[in-house]
Amino acid sequence: MPIYEYKCLRCDGEFEKIVKLNSPNPTCINAVPTADTKVLTRCDGDTKRIMSRTEFHLKGECWAKDGYTYHDGIDRY
Ligand SMILES: [Zn+2]
Repeated sequence: MPIYEYKCLRCDGEFEKIVKLNSPNPTCINAVPTADTKVLTRCDGDTKRIMSRTEFHLKGECWAKDGYTYHDGIDRY
């Protein structure tokens, strides 16, 4: 089964999930603080699938070309 990366439309967090082909997008699994308390709760927001950077870097020629510049400047939660 493939690993896809998803980006949450609610908290902007990203996460990876192994899913079956053609399965619907999972809800967000990231922990976010609730509005009125400081307790972390599961976000459960809607997500969209994004290109997996892991797969991209393993396949892409830019891995060798860019040397160590793996970091893309995006903070991961
Ligand atoms: Zn979220």
